[in-house]
Amino acid sequence: MATKIFKSKTILAGLNAKTIKGDKATDYVTAIMYLAPAAQSLLGNVCPMAELAGCEAGCLSKAGRAGIFSSIVNSRIAKTQRYFNDRRAFMAELVRDISAFVRWCGKHGVKPAVRLNGTSDIQWETAHPATRSGHGHLVPITYASIFEAFPEVQFYDYTKVYKRAYKALPSNYSLTLSYSEASPRYRDAVLLAALETGANIAVVYRTQHIRNAVMGAGKVDTFGHSNGERLAREVIDGDETDMRFTDPKGVIVGLYAKGKGARRDTTGFVIG
Ligand code: SF4
Repeated sequence: MATKIFKSKTILAGLNAKTIKGDKATDYVTAIMYLAPAAQSLLGNVCPMAELAGCEAGCLSKAGRAGIFSSIVNSRIAKTQRYFNDRRAFMAELVRDISAFVRWCGKHGVKPAVRLNGTSDIQWETAHPATRSGHGHLVPITYASIFEAFPEVQFYDYTKVYKRAYKALPSNYSLTLSYSEASPRYRDAVLLAALETGANIAVVYRTQHIRNAVMGAGKVDTFGHSNGERLAREVIDGDETDMRFTDPKGVIVGLYAKGKGARRDTTGFVIG
């Protein structure tokens, strides 16, 4: 069965035969928004921790490879510029597209999930109100965030903005911290956030073999803070599904580097 695509100005999703069959994790379909990462749009930075977490170079070079299809890069840059130039209009565009995605999911008998930060790290829970009309109301209502505007949607993201782990987030928004050893300052801050809040933390291991060696019953992997504290947790297979909101709490989400460039990463983002 061919993959069905949901395409809009802001978010994009694909539905394949495997998903249509549906099971516990995969009867959700995720629409992802891809902005131009870090400061690539030249109008502002959508990844405040990128430099400290050492992920910017890898992310931009990946974006550069997508540059073979420069129309993709250009449309991400244009989208990000719309975000910086007129946030209210951008949020209206996003509301329209998520509403269309919810209808599309209904038509295909799947549940809607949305990752807004496919290639960005924006704090959507703060200072991003969203106005939605319809949905049982006669007049448009402005909600504090897009999450509150769409209670029927499960939102999730990875984040390097570790302070977000300390916030009380809307119940339909799940965040997974992202580990990096690019700088002791970032490593310590993200470990502390995981230790203090119990938030899940994703670790990218250099190979599947290295990742698998620390996974399994009774095993833990350990990461040290410079104050002597240690984060010792079970590692789960983060590649089995991308639906991070279905993960158990208090684990390390073990991913492995995909592609030659990622396996050769020397920034400290890839471990082992
Ligand atoms: S924070 Fe995420 S999206 Fe931004 S540069 Fe780093 S890896 Fe890329």
